[in-house]
Amino acid sequence: MTFDPDAPPFQDAFLIEHKKDYIKKEGKFKDRASYSEQGSSDCTICLIISEDKDVPRYEIYRTPEFIVFLNLFPYTSGHILISPIQHLVGFEEFTDQLSEKFAKESKFLIKLLKTAMKTDSVNFGWNQGQFAGGSIKHFHAHLVPRYPRELNFIELIGRSRPMILSLEKTQELLITTFKELRHS
Ligand SMILES: [Zn+2]
Repeated sequence: MTFDPDAPPFQDAFLIEHKKDYIKKEGKFKDRASYSEQGSSDCTICLIISEDKDVPRYEIYRTPEFIVFLNLFPYTSGHILISPIQHLVGFEEFTDQLSEKFAKESKFLIKLLKTAMKTDSVNFGWNQGQFAGGSIKHFHAHLVPRYPRELNFIELIGRSRPMILSLEKTQELLITTFKELRHS
């Protein structure tokens, strides 16, 4: 393969073979509604919350207000999402009380990632609305641990992003760390 500096760096990722099956899955995901057509009845995050057996779920933990789970298509290992249990589309729909709890839970999640993923760098934010990159119409904020020298040989030459940990191993690690931190 010749190296083309203008090509996008990531064409593939090592551990997302399941993505193909997920997209091709018969049934409710075959004709998944477009962003503007999505309602709470066909919302992927609501299905994850209700533990629908047809939806892959890598839950870390939940509180009465929020669920924390792994992104199925992580930017890097340890990429987690936090969503309200209630089907809320935008952050402006949060009550003041829920916003406060969200801030508190997010602070805890940064601590969780710093401890479990051994880094002090985390991207934290959300894409709200389809033109801002939103794909699922149920509020979810991303927390992505970041590392020095992320762009390595494999990514540049192989145009693949290696995942340090599988989704299962990441889930296990984060649940263990969650239990340690929450009960300490
Ligand atoms: Zn929903």
